[in-house]
Amino acid sequence: MTHDTEHFRQKLLALKKEATERLEAIKKDMRHENIPKDWEDRASETENDETLESLMLLTERELEQINEALARIDAGSYFTCSECGAPIPEQRLELLPFTTLCVNCAELHEKQERLGLG
Ligand SMILES: [Zn+2]
Repeated sequence: MTHDTEHFRQKLLALKKEATERLEAIKKDMRHENIPKDWEDRASETENDETLESLMLLTERELEQINEALARIDAGSYFTCSECGAPIPEQRLELLPFTTLCVNCAELHEKQERLGLG
């Protein structure tokens, strides 16, 4: 079976560009938030900072996953589950371009996470 590797590479590169720009925007926002303001604003400021920080961490994590997926494309393992070696269907990668797991393994992981074992 041949895969449209180039299609997914382009898709990932577009996602990477988008995530990088988002990260830059978040970091810019955080710098602005550090300018001291009135007392009344403090509480919401802190809250906003925390939201921005978790957003930043999420986006950084996303970038990592994108880079990993790009490395997997180069290594020729992009369409293979990293856990059990089963092929990952293209429809799944179309929806989740940086997943490294087949549906079965992903479900298993989710179950373990819910039980606090993951
Ligand atoms: Zn698997």
